[in-house]
Amino acid sequence: MTTRVLECRECKKRYGTEFRYVCDECFGPLDVRYEGLPRLGPETFEGREHTYWRYRELLPVEDASHIISIGAGMTPLIKADALAERLGLRNVYIKNDSVNPTFSFKDRPAGVAVSKAKEFGMSRVGCASTGNLASATAAHAARGGLPCHIFAPSNIEMAKIAQALSYGADYISVDGTYDDANRIAAQAGDRLGIGVVNINMRSYYVEGSKTLAYEVAEQLGWSVPDNLIVPVGSGAMLNAICKGFEELESASLVPGGDVRDMRMHAAQPTGCAPVVDAFANNRDIVAPVESPDTIAKSLAIGDPGDGRYVLKRLKQYDGTAVETSDDEIIDAILLLARTEGIFTEPAGGVAVATLQKMAEQKTIDPGDSVVCYVTGNGLKATEAVMRSLRKPETVKADAQAIIAEVAGR
Ligand SMILES: *Cc1c(COP(=O)(O)O)cnc(C)c1O
Ligand SMILES: [Zn+2]
Repeated sequence: MTTRVLECRECKKRYGTEFRYVCDECFGPLDVRYEGLPRLGPETFEGREHTYWRYRELLPVEDASHIISIGAGMTPLIKADALAERLGLRNVYIKNDSVNPTFSFKDRPAGVAVSKAKEFGMSRVGCASTGNLASATAAHAARGGLPCHIFAPSNIEMAKIAQALSYGADYISVDGTYDDANRIAAQAGDRLGIGVVNINMRSYYVEGSKTLAYEVAEQLGWSVPDNLIVPVGSGAMLNAICKGFEELESASLVPGGDVRDMRMHAAQPTGCAPVVDAFANNRDIVAPVESPDTIAKSLAIGDPGDGRYVLKRLKQYDGTAVETSDDEIIDAILLLARTEGIFTEPAGGVAVATLQKMAEQKTIDPGDSVVCYVTGNGLKATEAVMRSLRKPETVKADAQAIIAEVAGR
């Protein structure tokens, strides 16, 4: 029988899988550990549902009747040969998480955290969001019949607000930064008993994100890529992907030693790059950015909760941290769209722009495999790309004239 426990990331004190998210000894974050796992092999997962719940032995929900699924996960891993050729690389893969049910990777952490909140018997859920988590939490809450409270900065994209409101969420638009909204959500969670997925449910939330490692390994025939490029906001996803690969190694699902050899790279936008800044200056602590200013609004987290753990991971996995400008991000969005037919929002553009920069600077060996995580959908942030695209002029519905015009193009 599998036993799930919470373990402090700092002092290693252990707790049951209860409603608790910081260590009462040292205030460190708590991670879920799995003990007494049954033997898992590739065949364990064959024929299972095409969602991340196929890895249920390694997820923190005890009773399957508490699972709230909207069908997220098992998104395509695309061998991106046209993109690779443009960059002078040979083994590029895009993990296209922009095609999840709410169109971002946040369906992974939100789905697991909302399910766990239901298992705890909590009567409502919520989140602090830079945009995508709002919809992911609201959609899972709707499916699970739980009220949902969103706390978000007021400057996020209209499409993201419309989407979250459509799922019926109570939406609090805060005149401030994400960090302000996050602080308020933390207090509201404590006072009102809300299961705030990214705060008081965080230990369970990250368990959803780690399925980004499981799927990539499975889709590569249970192997580990040489390089991973991950966009970083709070840093929870990057940490979770490392945890996911480590668990696969412990369970002997991937060859021993390969996880130790993988390289993990962090991607941030120039207008909000506190992790890149700390990495470049060889600091262990991340100095917050007061007022983030970037088109990559999903990554506009000035004070990343898991920033210092990202720095540790980059050291552990021989990685780099790269920042890219708004113009580079837009160029990368268009490059990905025009080579691979994948339309991503700026956060995914940051990952692709980082790949491009690393290829140019030859910090990736051209033959090595790279998985680039494309985490959100372009339809959620069309304002960003329209800056560099021209809105087509409307012409008269005159076939002859149009054909003559198109023939000359
Ligand atoms: C939230 C988000 C990220 C960053 O994830 P963190 O876990 O906060 O680092 C990246 N991409 C998209 C599209 C997001 O919505
Ligand atoms: Zn502790």
